[in-house]
Amino acid sequence: MIIVPLGVASATPTATRHLPSVALWREGDVHLFDCGENAQMRMLQAGLKRSKIENIFITHFDVDHFSGIIGLLSTLQLQRRDKSLKIIGPKGVKEYVEWNLNFANVDLNFEISFVEVEEGFEEERVVDEDEYYVEARPLNHSTFCIGYRFQEKDKPGKVDAEKAEAMGITEDAQYKALKAGEDVELEDGTIVKSYDIVGHPRPGDSFAYVTDTKYCPNAVKLAMNTNILYHEATFSESLADKAVETGHSTSADAARVANEAQTKLLVIGHFSARYTNPFVLLREARDKFFPAWLATELRPIFTNPSQEKGIVQQKVYIKEANDKSGGGGGKSKKRSRKSDSSKKRFRKRKSSSSDRKKRSRSSSSSSERKRRRPERSRKNDNNDNQGSSRPPKHITPRTPFDNFDRF
Ligand SMILES: [Zn+2]
Repeated sequence: MIIVPLGVASATPTATRHLPSVALWREGDVHLFDCGENAQMRMLQAGLKRSKIENIFITHFDVDHFSGIIGLLSTLQLQRRDKSLKIIGPKGVKEYVEWNLNFANVDLNFEISFVEVEEGFEEERVVDEDEYYVEARPLNHSTFCIGYRFQEKDKPGKVDAEKAEAMGITEDAQYKALKAGEDVELEDGTIVKSYDIVGHPRPGDSFAYVTDTKYCPNAVKLAMNTNILYHEATFSESLADKAVETGHSTSADAARVANEAQTKLLVIGHFSARYTNPFVLLREARDKFFPAWLATELRPIFTNPSQEKGIVQQKVYIKEANDKSGGGGGKSKKRSRKSDSSKKRFRKRKSSSSDRKKRSRSSSSSSERKRRRPERSRKNDNNDNQGSSRPPKHITPRTPFDNFDRF
């Protein structure tokens, strides 16, 4: 199971954060939790196929959480999807989608089946497939809001093939029966017990998606013993009053849920635009729970890195967490490239050993974008030269994240 945050902003997008959406990749299928504006673009950039979407789960009707759904459906239509799609959400999601498609005169090639949850419900299994199910519970927000838990069903234990053969099992059907927990009677009348051959069932992976809520017991129930809990942390402790007032959580609330639910990994997201540096939130969460991570858009989170690494490969550059020279916005990217190239020049002049040169060369990756770097830096140098005759235009320095307090 791989979790890919597609948008980690709250109500308004920023230059580097998109509206809420999280993709879950499992065995080639994609399950989308919330579908903020741009979710379909972020999927493309994350290297996730939109045609592979099986289910879309909507938590509530704050516009930032579902504004991308019509655009996504239109894309699926243009891609000539014929596989049916499931949309799960609060009551009204069917009406919203159908009205919009009617309004735009879109006659879908594929079928959408809706699962609507009404206010006042306590717990519901909204999806139930052979290998997994999804449980929904109400959260505590200013509007009716649902949290989800995606749970893989336990996988059958491993079959000890050597032992089975030694005991006289030869046919596939017999193996199947043993795997299903049934005992098999051989022709000579001996009975081979399933528990002799098949090991303990392996517990399935689980993921809880809890966003737009104050602290609430249902969040804990959804997250109980999960592999990954994605919890909103809109505010820091200093704005705890505002969090309660608007029906959101602080990072400490997220950590509290993680602690009570004994989740294996807490991932916080849904950051208020005021936090140009969300590490403040991470620090507060980590004070109370570990391991906790910041949700980083397009950076996959694995339940089993040894098997899953490389399956989902993003198509765009991701800013490194420790890259202080900037990332996100175009301008800051340019700046970071420039500083990189000047570093290289400095090294060349100073380095005495060929070893060092090699290291600096090997550190430059072969990706296309980076190959273009020298061109760009030359362009920058030219600008600098012009600057010597004419004072350069003042550009407000950018922090790694767009500073929204300035506007
Ligand atoms: Zn929200």
